[in-house]
Amino acid sequence: MPIELTSLSQSSLQDYNDCPRRFELRYLQRLAYPAIETEPALENEKHQREGEYFHRLVQQYFIGIPAEQVAKTANTDNLQRWWDNFINNKNLTGLKDLAGLRTEVTLSAPLGSFRLIAKYDLIAMDGKKFYIYDWKTYRKRPKSEFLAIRLQTRVYRALLVQAGAFLNGGKPIAPEQIEMIYWFSDFPNDPAHFPYQADQFKRDWDALTRYAEEIKSASSYPKTEDTNRCLYCPYRSYCNRGIRAGDGLDAELETEAEELFDINFEQIGEIEF
Ligand code: SF4
Repeated sequence: MPIELTSLSQSSLQDYNDCPRRFELRYLQRLAYPAIETEPALENEKHQREGEYFHRLVQQYFIGIPAEQVAKTANTDNLQRWWDNFINNKNLTGLKDLAGLRTEVTLSAPLGSFRLIAKYDLIAMDGKKFYIYDWKTYRKRPKSEFLAIRLQTRVYRALLVQAGAFLNGGKPIAPEQIEMIYWFSDFPNDPAHFPYQADQFKRDWDALTRYAEEIKSASSYPKTEDTNRCLYCPYRSYCNRGIRAGDGLDAELETEAEELFDINFEQIGEIEF
């Protein structure tokens, strides 16, 4: 029995964009991933867990836990290397001194008949601009052109315009005041920067609204015609699109669904509606 969906996120929208069938399986039927059967898949899962843990370490740092204490819990090779890359990056550690700093903040705003929700790793305000930081533990540094069109980049900036007034003394944040930065824990000196402008915001919000309308009225969820997407899709055994996994590195972008269902709605900053 499909679940009544009330909210959308960058992950669910990305899935809908990439393959409506995957959106249906993951967000309407909420099917668990098929069992993991191969060693590379186990490796990938371990890497993913370490990535989640790294986010916690950085959050602890920004809420004021001493770096030496946080470092002690970076207890795998990956975590140690990522932590070292982070703590030695003065551009990042320097953010700690800013007054306007929010970690793990969730914003929401109405989008058609849904709520659009996003959880931000860090929003930093230096008095002039709002910087959205997102920590990525990818093993490959994606091309910036690829990231520019990802729904995360579009949703996070647009939603901060729509729902970020409470961070700005009650005044809406202008698109030009926003910049999104992906920082890659294995490529610490090569972050990807995405400033924002009013025309981009308009284009993004119009597109997001169209997605919401389409999802609301959809009666079927076709499989993607691009079978390359199936190579690293965790649902491929449901679709007769092969059993063997594709390249585990490419899978990182495909399996990045955040657990939207765990978000505590009491803590969401939003505009009233
Ligand atoms: S296996 Fe292919 S068709 Fe099936 S959900 Fe995944 S991407 Fe879509």
